[in-house]
Amino acid sequence: MQESLEKLQKVALSDLHQAGDLKSLQDVRVQVLGKKGSLTEIMKGMRNLSAEERPVIGNLVNRLKTDFENAFNLRQQELQQENIAAKLTSEKLDVTLPGRRTVSGSLHPVTMVTAEVREIFSRLGFTVAEGPEIEEDFYNFEALNIPKDHPARDMQDTFYISDERVLRTHTSPVQIRTMLKNEPPIRIIAPGTVYRRDSDLTHSPMFHQVEGFLVDEKVTFGDLKGVLTHFLNEFFGEGRSVRFRPSFFPFTEPSAEVDIECVICGGKGCRVCGKTGWLEILGCGMIDPAVFESVHYDPDKFSGFAFGMGLERMAMLKYGVNDLRLFFENDLRFLKQF
Ligand SMILES: [Zn+2]
Repeated sequence: MQESLEKLQKVALSDLHQAGDLKSLQDVRVQVLGKKGSLTEIMKGMRNLSAEERPVIGNLVNRLKTDFENAFNLRQQELQQENIAAKLTSEKLDVTLPGRRTVSGSLHPVTMVTAEVREIFSRLGFTVAEGPEIEEDFYNFEALNIPKDHPARDMQDTFYISDERVLRTHTSPVQIRTMLKNEPPIRIIAPGTVYRRDSDLTHSPMFHQVEGFLVDEKVTFGDLKGVLTHFLNEFFGEGRSVRFRPSFFPFTEPSAEVDIECVICGGKGCRVCGKTGWLEILGCGMIDPAVFESVHYDPDKFSGFAFGMGLERMAMLKYGVNDLRLFFENDLRFLKQF
């Protein structure tokens, strides 16, 4: 019996030593001290021993048990240390490596132009107003002096939702909505999305406009010229010639179109300006008394001017972009340049 105990001790301790991880170490412990473990079996056999043998073997068994426990604890600690060390090596962080740069996006050119227009006009005391993109016929046409049978409705190819509802064809309905809710003096710009049935190199079925208008007593065409000339100088840079050409819009009288000295050739004449040296930039005029009547303003007391421009066109001219569709294709190679 003593022999088999000594043998067991040798095998158990060497097994402990060879256990490569905590799981197999635990297995060795079960093999020796578990319910059916080898040492447990020996202890069960002790009752068959004689009275002299029993204390001797009991002593040996106890010593073996203690030795085994000690060896087990030692090996367990070793393995735990190894685990921690392995973890530290595999998760090692090299703080001297250069960091990963986060890629930041950029603003869309139309957003940038809109922001600049807002800023210039806000310095002149204009505030921003907005209106719905699905608009009632009354605000989009009727109140702007464009009745149902008016030929001016042909000027704009309209998306109709029903007989009385349209996708707004311009930002001008915001004028009506604002004037119906407020009394003069009013200074507003209204940037927003508009829709027309049109699509080619210079037209998109959805595009952006900014509308502006000012109503007060004794507003003259001179005020209109002053405000717009100031705006164009701020936007395109000081010193460019600006000219006002007579034109027609149903909601203004008199009406004008505004040209600026070509920003590409400086007025000498090029492909962009069609060799004229001028670029058409916006439409404007004095608000028609008929419009004032539809919002219940007294046309004898109040006067005002309004203007509207396409923001994509402003962006094309400012950044030298020759195809309107680039703004809507979301090609990052294009957008990253801004
Ligand atoms: Zn030119």
